[in-house]
Amino acid sequence: MKSTSAHSNASAVELVSLTKNYGDGKPAVDAINLRIAQGSYCCLLGPSGCGKSTTLRMIAGHETVTSGDVLLENRNITNLPAAARGTAMMFQSFALFPHMSALDNVAFSLKMKGVDTATRHQAAGQLLERVSMSHLAQRKPGELSGGQQQRVALARALITEPKVLLLDEPLSALDPFLRIQMRAELRRWQKELKLTFIHVTHSQEEAMALADTMVVMNHGTIEQQGSPHDIYNRPNSEFVARFMGGRNVIAWGGSVITVRSDHMQLHDLSDRLEPGRHALTTCITDIEYQGTHVLVSLQAQDGAHPQTAGAELTVMVSEDRFMSQPFELGQQAKLAWSADAAHHFTAD
Ligand code: ADP
Ligand code: MG
Repeated sequence: MKSTSAHSNASAVELVSLTKNYGDGKPAVDAINLRIAQGSYCCLLGPSGCGKSTTLRMIAGHETVTSGDVLLENRNITNLPAAARGTAMMFQSFALFPHMSALDNVAFSLKMKGVDTATRHQAAGQLLERVSMSHLAQRKPGELSGGQQQRVALARALITEPKVLLLDEPLSALDPFLRIQMRAELRRWQKELKLTFIHVTHSQEEAMALADTMVVMNHGTIEQQGSPHDIYNRPNSEFVARFMGGRNVIAWGGSVITVRSDHMQLHDLSDRLEPGRHALTTCITDIEYQGTHVLVSLQAQDGAHPQTAGAELTVMVSEDRFMSQPFELGQQAKLAWSADAAHHFTAD
């Protein structure tokens, strides 16, 4: 059955055993399989060099594929030129032409296609209206705020009527305050346009804020994919747990578990543990005030549990709680958790 809803199960993009080998040993992208739902916001996330940009460029047609396929709405586009694919790209810091007006920037790709001035200005004008920028159509990028430039860049990418918008670290050149504003705006436009977005970022915070589906990559492969909630709460590997952050990875009872830092508690060494709770003896190595909570760093002590001795751990203590029972740097403390809070890794 064909569905037209924005969040149908139809895949906008499907990658089949997609591989890129630049010819220097291990592939940069190693036989990845991925389906990205129509109308969804997908973030490719992972550390620098893990193959995110290469994957995006192969989808865009800016990089040749070593083996495997790229499908867009079930059409094999692996060997099509970039302009014939139905994808459009938005780059880091928007890459607008500084000497051109917003209108001419938006109309640029139609000009390249030989569309006459009146027709392309009309099309560009409509898109600028769509992103609430009509009144600034004659301004050059340097005369626009960061947010306004982002809207022009979006309109410019949309003028080719793409089915999928590809974004490679579009926010990473912005200062933190603007970055948070701009990501909210990207998210809003994606929902409004009901377009599929594939957004590359190395920031787990950015990916969690934006994505319907997060795809965590490592060394050219996909470690895990799922909703931000799933990935944050049920990481399937130590790599994902550590990369997402806000968690401790602890060798415990012959296996490895992970517990969220905000689901652990600090106790005095003399405190008695309630049944169903576990604890490590630790030494406090850092205390950082973060507003709503205090981030306490600790080092597991020798003898507490042999596999964990020396491990670096963190606990988030609410400000109120920390103030009522302060701990000091260098002090020994018990770091406790309830058995329910422990997550065991389960590779798919
Ligand atoms: P990311 O975007 O996740 O930081 P990239 O996709 O840019 O990662 O790079 C993945 C790997 O491929 C890295 O090891 C990088 O050095 C290598 N690489 C990227 N582009 C090229 C290229 N044009 N030629 C050779 N190696 C490349
Ligand atoms: Mg990159």
